[in-house]
Amino acid sequence: MAMQSFDFISANQEYVFNTYGRSPIMLVEGNGLRVKDSDGKEYLDFIGGIAACPLGHAHPALVEAICKQAGKLIHVSNIFHIEPQIELAKLLTENSFADKAFFCNSGAEANEGAIKLARKFFSEKGDTDRYHVITMENSFHGRTLATLAATGQTKYRLGFEPETPGFSHVQFGDYQALERAITQKTAAIMIEPIQGEGGVRIPPADYLSKVRKLCDDKGILLIFDEVQTGMGRTGKLFAYENFGVEPDIMTLAKGLAGGVPIGALVATNHVAEAFKPGSHASTFGGNPLSSAAGVAVLNEILSNGFLDRVRIMGGYLRSRLEDVAVKHSVVKEVRGLGLMQAIDLKVAGADLVNIMRDAGILINCTSEKVIRFLPPLIVTGAEIDEMIIILDASLAKITD
Ligand SMILES: *Cc1c(COP(=O)(O)O)cnc(C)c1O
Repeated sequence: MAMQSFDFISANQEYVFNTYGRSPIMLVEGNGLRVKDSDGKEYLDFIGGIAACPLGHAHPALVEAICKQAGKLIHVSNIFHIEPQIELAKLLTENSFADKAFFCNSGAEANEGAIKLARKFFSEKGDTDRYHVITMENSFHGRTLATLAATGQTKYRLGFEPETPGFSHVQFGDYQALERAITQKTAAIMIEPIQGEGGVRIPPADYLSKVRKLCDDKGILLIFDEVQTGMGRTGKLFAYENFGVEPDIMTLAKGLAGGVPIGALVATNHVAEAFKPGSHASTFGGNPLSSAAGVAVLNEILSNGFLDRVRIMGGYLRSRLEDVAVKHSVVKEVRGLGLMQAIDLKVAGADLVNIMRDAGILINCTSEKVIRFLPPLIVTGAEIDEMIIILDASLAKITD
């Protein structure tokens, strides 16, 4: 079978579970924001693996770190000490509110760990009835059974009943509703500081600080799901820094190792101590390869001027999106923070995604009408300009 003539896209339908509404192209290589498909057509990648590629594609420092580590040691069990994992934990904790880190393989798994940690925190005190977690409507926390129950969108849960008990949802941004939802059983409140999948929604000013105070007053743990907002996405290393509010537990994944699968759970000592030897584990979590990738990504993001550039480029992307938005009545709103930006349309966004892809720009639509921009954090002003020209022309083809 000559591989050149092999039709991978038909083979996908034949051999792979049909769980994704996939775009009709197959990307085969990339450099920075530029990616190429199997027909040799080039695109500018403004979705970056849905925030999983902060350094873009084939970043030299990341490639070098992965190759070097692969040549030394790809994997050993967590029954041994792992040098890159310790290094990554040190970097994460020295640059956040947290004291300790635990590593796993994905965002859902990190959130599972956070939920388990919150339950264990109270059961260690003999408060075994306190296991309930309040999350937000429209949130997204993952696809495992517990994180589906945590996710405040019923569509993802349909057909997977019975629902895992121990969760309730309140409207994001509604402080009074949250206060009313608290009971003797509430162990934790879990929030994305900015909702990602739910449509790039920023909470009202003061909301998160009021939630923090509520948690302190009631002895409830605050969990921030920064799987999407973390790792420099909003112009700060972690989104909570923008709001001046620190959680007790934070989860990370997507951008953490620049596209190599990883997840992390970080917490203060006070909370992390609830996990004892044997409490929680993962075969691959924090293995040498993914941790070495994570160290390379963090060193890059923490390097001089990197986050300043993210803030500058975030501001530039925002202002250019606003320039375009005023010209097209189909755009309802532009919103976001840093390099997590969106345009909310009056109509479904699928057509715009297709038109833009044909014109060489990769973007994504979430919540049906929200066009999401999550470019690699290394995006340049020229690349933003190139995307904006095509966005402008593409919006002209969409009518409301
Ligand atoms: C993507 C995402 C998840 C799930 O991460 P997976 O790695 O797909 O399990 C959880 N929370 C948020 C906020 C996310 O954006």
